[in-house]
Amino acid sequence: MKIFFYDVAVPLPIRHCFTYKSDQLIRKGSRIVIPFGSRKLIGIIVKKIVPDEVIKKDKSIKYIDSVIDQFALFENSIFDTIIWASEYYHHPIGEVFQSFIPTSLRKAKTNIDIDESLVNNSIYEIEEVDKKFGLTSYQSKAVNRLSNLKGFKPALLYGVTGSGKTEVYLRLTEDLIKKKKSVLILVPEINLTPQLLKRFESRFKGEIGLYHSKQTPKKRLNTWLKAKFGKINIVIGTRSSILMPLKNLGLIIIDEEHDQSYRQSDGFKFSARDVGIKRAQEEKIPIILGSATPSLQTLRLVQEKKYKKIDMLTRVDGKAPPRLITMDINNSNMEGGIAEETVDAIKATLKKNEQVLIFINRRGFAPIFQCGQCGWVAECKSCDSNLVYHQNKNRLICHRCESAYLANNSCPECNKKDFYFHGTGTERIEEILSNTFLDTPIIRVDQDSTKKVGSMDKIIQDINSADAAILVGTQMLAKGHDFPKVTLSIILNADNGLISPEINALEKISQLLIQVSGRAGRNNNLAKVLIQTRYPDDINLNKIKTGDYLSFAMQCLSKNKKIGLPPYSAMCMLRCSSPTQKNNINFLNKAVRELNKKSDLSVIGPLPSLISKSKGNFRHNVYIQANQKSQLNRILKRLIKELSDWPESKKVKWTFDIDPIEIN
Ligand SMILES: [Zn+2]
Ligand SMILES: [Zn+2]
Repeated sequence: MKIFFYDVAVPLPIRHCFTYKSDQLIRKGSRIVIPFGSRKLIGIIVKKIVPDEVIKKDKSIKYIDSVIDQFALFENSIFDTIIWASEYYHHPIGEVFQSFIPTSLRKAKTNIDIDESLVNNSIYEIEEVDKKFGLTSYQSKAVNRLSNLKGFKPALLYGVTGSGKTEVYLRLTEDLIKKKKSVLILVPEINLTPQLLKRFESRFKGEIGLYHSKQTPKKRLNTWLKAKFGKINIVIGTRSSILMPLKNLGLIIIDEEHDQSYRQSDGFKFSARDVGIKRAQEEKIPIILGSATPSLQTLRLVQEKKYKKIDMLTRVDGKAPPRLITMDINNSNMEGGIAEETVDAIKATLKKNEQVLIFINRRGFAPIFQCGQCGWVAECKSCDSNLVYHQNKNRLICHRCESAYLANNSCPECNKKDFYFHGTGTERIEEILSNTFLDTPIIRVDQDSTKKVGSMDKIIQDINSADAAILVGTQMLAKGHDFPKVTLSIILNADNGLISPEINALEKISQLLIQVSGRAGRNNNLAKVLIQTRYPDDINLNKIKTGDYLSFAMQCLSKNKKIGLPPYSAMCMLRCSSPTQKNNINFLNKAVRELNKKSDLSVIGPLPSLISKSKGNFRHNVYIQANQKSQLNRILKRLIKELSDWPESKKVKWTFDIDPIEIN
C-alpha cells in the first residue's frame, strides 16, 4: 500500500503545519478530519510532502481520519493568496484558513451535495430600460479605459462624490457577464450592501450573491457554494467576501478603497483591499479601487506609475460640491457640543423645508458619567475605559467589551444622588435638538439604532420620504449614502482629528470631511458643510476646507516621504496581552533587546496601549518601523523563530499587527 504524507494546517494559534499520512491522494486545500491529541479537528491540506527516511519511519505520525468533501475548499489563486497572507501578516496559517471558511463548514461535518442548483449557470439578462440616463463624458471615458485593462492591472477610479461610480461598475459588470466572466464587488459596510444590491438587481435579471456577517451561516454558505460552482457570477459583499470563490473571475472592485472598515482589527488582522490586490495579481486580472478620497498608499502607487488613475471630476447632476465653511466656536454659547450659531443655521435650513445632517463620532448619550460630589467616574470593571451613558436603555455601556451596567441611582462611593454628564454622543444631540425643534422629525443613525437587519433600509426610506428633518449620526451616516434633501451638514467635533497624534490622523479627518460633504446637496447648488472648530486658523483645516482633497493628500504624501512615514516605510506593532503587566513588560523587553541588535530599525516601547486594559487583560505594544517591507518581513520571521522558544512568550498572548491603522 502506498502511503502519502501531508503538511496540514490546524485551526489553532500555531505557526507551523503538522505532518499526517494517508493511503489516499488528497488535493491541497481540502478539508480533512484529523486526530489531534485527544481531540478531532478539521484541518486543511497545505501540501503533499516527499518524505525522507526519518519521516517514513516516524511512528508518531498519525493517519488522517477522513477526507470531508469531494472538492478542495481552497483552490489555485485563493489557496496561494491565503499562504501569502499568512506570511505577510505573520499570522498562524490554520487561523488564516479558518477565517475564510464559511462558518457552517468550520466545525460540524457538513456534507455538501453538488447538485443542479449549484452548478447551472445563471443567465443574466440586461435590463436596457435601467440604462435610460446617458453617461457623463467622464463616465464613458472611465468605462472605456477600465474595460480595456488586461491582466493584473490595479486602477484607481478617482471619482468625486456624486460622479456616478456605481454606474461605471454596472457597465463594466455587463461587459464581463457578456464574456461569461464573474465579478466581485466589495463595499466597506454592511449598511451599504442593500442599495448597491438594488442597483445591480434592477440592471441584471439573474441571481446576484450577497455575503456579509449579518446573514445567517446558512445563507452565507449558500452564496459561497453557488459562487464556487458557477451558479452565481456576481457577488456583492463586505471584507469577509474578498476570497469568495467565483468561477472565471474577471474583475474585483473595491469601492471606497480608503475606508478603514476594510481592515479587520480582531484576530487575524488584515486589509481586505490589500488581500484583494494580491488575489488579483494571482488571478492575473484587473482590480479597481474606487474612491473620492483615495488612501495615501494608493496615491503613492499611482504616483510611481504602478497603478493607473482614472478621473471622474464632475458630478452627474452637473452641480458644484457643497462648500466647507469653518465656524469659530471659541466665543460661542455651547449646549452639549452644539454652538448657538449652529442652532440658528439649522433653524434657517428647516424653515426652507430642507434637511440637516449632524455628524458626531460617538454613539450613546455622554461618554463620561460622574458624581458631582466626590468625583467618582463610571468605569468598566474589565477594561480601562469610561462607561458611556445610554439614556434610551438607562444603562452604562462599555464601548470596548459591550458590557452593560445599570445606571445607579446613587454614587457607589459617597451615596449621593448628584450625577452629571461630560461630553456628547448621538443620543444627547438627539435630545437637545428635540427640545428645540419640537415638530421636526429627528432621525438617529448609529450602531444602536441600526442593530436589526433591514433597519438601515427603513431609516433611509424614512429620511427620503420626510421633508424638513434632522439626521444625527456617526460614521455610518458619513459613508456612501446619498441624501438629496440634505442641504446643511454639520461636523461637531472635527478638532479631535486635527490635533490627534495618530500617524494617519490628517488623512482620516480630510477623508471624513470630504465624505460628509458628499452626502449632501445633490441637486442643490447652495448646500454647505459647517465645521465647528476651536482652531479656525489651523493650516491643515484651511487646506481641507478648499474641498480639493487630492492636492491636500499629495501634500501629506510628500511630507510623509520626507520624514519616512508610511506609505514610505513599513510599520508593525507587536501587541501583547496577559492578566499581569509584568508578563507583558518582560516579554516585550526581551523582544526589544533582540530587535535592537538589527540595524536600520526604529523600535519604540514597550508602552501601554491607549486602552491599557481590555476584557480583563493588560495590553502593551512595541512599535517597529523599517525602511522596506521586505526588510521588516525578514526581521520578523527571524524574531518569531527565536521568541517561540522563550519562556516569556508562553505567559502572554502576542500578535503582530502589520500596516496598523492605529499605533496606540
Ligand atoms: Zn460620589
Ligand atoms: Zn469593558
